[in-house]
Amino acid sequence: MSVRTRFAPSPTGYLHVGGARTALFSWLYARKMGGQFILRIEDTDRERSTEESVNAILESMEWLGLDYDEGPFYQTHQFARYKEVIQQLLDSGDAYFCDCSRERLGELREAQMANKEKPRYDGCCRDKKLAAADNTVVRFKNPLEGDVVIDDMVKGQVKINNRELDDLIIERSDGTPTYNLTVVVDDWDMKITHVIRGDDHLNNTPRQINILKALDAELPVYAHVPMILGDDGKRLSKRHGAVSVMQYKEDGFLPEALMNYLVRLSWSHGDQEIFSREEMIKLFDAVDINTSASAFNSEKLLWLNQHYIKNKNPDVLAQQMQNYIKNAGYTLDNGPDLTAVLTVFQERCNTLVELTEDIRFLYQDFDEYNAKQAKKQFKEATLPILESLKQQYSGLDNWVAEAIHQVVENTVNTLEVGFGKVGQPLRLAVTGHGKSPSIDVTLELLGKEKTLQRLEQAVEYIKKVSD
Ligand code: GLU
Repeated sequence: MSVRTRFAPSPTGYLHVGGARTALFSWLYARKMGGQFILRIEDTDRERSTEESVNAILESMEWLGLDYDEGPFYQTHQFARYKEVIQQLLDSGDAYFCDCSRERLGELREAQMANKEKPRYDGCCRDKKLAAADNTVVRFKNPLEGDVVIDDMVKGQVKINNRELDDLIIERSDGTPTYNLTVVVDDWDMKITHVIRGDDHLNNTPRQINILKALDAELPVYAHVPMILGDDGKRLSKRHGAVSVMQYKEDGFLPEALMNYLVRLSWSHGDQEIFSREEMIKLFDAVDINTSASAFNSEKLLWLNQHYIKNKNPDVLAQQMQNYIKNAGYTLDNGPDLTAVLTVFQERCNTLVELTEDIRFLYQDFDEYNAKQAKKQFKEATLPILESLKQQYSGLDNWVAEAIHQVVENTVNTLEVGFGKVGQPLRLAVTGHGKSPSIDVTLELLGKEKTLQRLEQAVEYIKKVSD
């Protein structure tokens, strides 16, 4: 039998990293087993579901490369089918109408709480054989005795006694189905073999299993994935910084870095840290998912991102950089070839946003310097050094790194100063921020004309501030 997994987000907000990891595990398992991965949008909560969230989910999945074989299917298109199944349960005596008022249920709840009992429906209408009316809901007749046993791929065996459960509502009085009913019907209809989802759903699973059994449906295998915590041990939320997948894109993360980070969060293979997509698929197994919650570590994600940027094909990286550069408000029109630039600059940055700023000076002039750097590097004593460099560079026709380097060396020797006294002010003069790979390669990329202009500008600046 072919494996079929699904990701079933509710479109009530952006796709956050917890959801993305659940999707990743479902996707990985399907890919590993040569099965199918299905996307189902659980949009029955019409008040909280938005088209914007649906789009954010689709966009995030595309960006991460989580391709689905079927879907997206929308639960709001399935209301007739849910009605049909509810009717089937009513006909078989596995469901019943209930007209308990809100007040009665409230009082029941309060009395149970006062007795330190778990609030649950007391089955008041279970045997009343009520007919449908405007004020009735439909409840599932949960078995009264016995255990529900879940052989969870992650948690191991979980046993829940039916006495812990109650007769849950499967259809509201307005005729709409509830979450546990729609999930059951869809998992059944879609022939889902493995339900991989967050462990915040573990308490729904015995209820869903009971409904599936009443329908004589085959049970899927369950895998409940532990949740993600922030570095303070609390459940990951906005407080911990970016949590939406698309925010990571905006912040300059590569999808492969985020995927690699997420797969290692609560799954491991020896002490290996770097996994290509192919390796993940080959090595992943749901039974190896950790049972305990895992803490999100932004430093590690940055480290992985740096790794992937460094190793990215510069042509592909150049493509990806186009949007970041556009958003940063400069153009590539009057500067060096981007691929050539990235080959040199991709070595040393954490994010694409940082990279975009690192290379800005090659394409855009500036009239301010990093204040701290300027204070340190631009002193009166620096003037003769920069003036000498300018003079030598203006006479240099062969504008290549080696010759550019030779000029720095000559200056060090002639003026009898340390290398840093030449290299650092030069670097600050041409970049404005003082951060660049080796200076000769940097100047070669920047070009002779701009180098001379920037040296002139720095000389003027130093003269002005030392007046
Ligand atoms: N729609 C549910 C959610 O977003 C998930 C349901 C499930 O995976 O069974 O939390």
